[in-house]
Amino acid sequence: MKPKRLVVGLTGGIGSGKSTALAAFERLGAATISLDQLAKEQAKPGRDGYKAIVRKFGKGILNNDGTIDRAVLGKLVFSNPAKRRELEKATHPTILKEMKDLIGKMNGVVIVDVPLLFEKNLQKSFDACICISAMPRTQLTRIMRRDGLNEKDAKLRIKAQLSMAEKMKRSDVTISNDSDLKSLNDKVQSYYAGLDLICRGTN
Ligand code: ATP
Repeated sequence: MKPKRLVVGLTGGIGSGKSTALAAFERLGAATISLDQLAKEQAKPGRDGYKAIVRKFGKGILNNDGTIDRAVLGKLVFSNPAKRRELEKATHPTILKEMKDLIGKMNGVVIVDVPLLFEKNLQKSFDACICISAMPRTQLTRIMRRDGLNEKDAKLRIKAQLSMAEKMKRSDVTISNDSDLKSLNDKVQSYYAGLDLICRGTN
């Protein structure tokens, strides 16, 4: 029997709740992949992504123990679009290859958290795209609290991405996440039920 697989890209803005929604899909039984997680793995000493980053940005971005200082690298690339593009060029091919390899091994509903899905034109890798949206004020509050950023740096990070309106327009559906966690979990649950049904019906 052919494996049944439905691959859904989950996108949205920074701090809009993609990882939180991804975890909710996983609890319901979906197979999940987080590109942020793959990127973090690739940035560990010895990995190809790490080597590419050190080649591009030099040893000034390293901690004493040789690991990448994420705060220093983050500040550098979010205040300089050319540097951000360089970082993406150095790391994205490896991350995307890993994503494709992982998807190839999965069955059923597969949800992939892809922050830059539309910015990087990755629509073709997915059967459908879901946008997790939040108002700019909600995003600001969440990322300032989560990442300890000041308002100026938090705004820079929001601005670095395609607008939420554009992401919503290009997605097949939008799940708004301005309310509490229960509301998000309920919405995820009903979408998962539908996706699971479609997936079982495919083939
Ligand atoms: P990034 O793009 O930066 O990785 P993200 O879209 O994955 O962000 P999350 O990390 O899921 O966003 O959420 C950002 C923060 O907001 C987290 O601390 C998370 O716990 C919190 N959060 C997400 N959704 C809700 C909600 N509905 N109610 C309260 N807090 C929430």
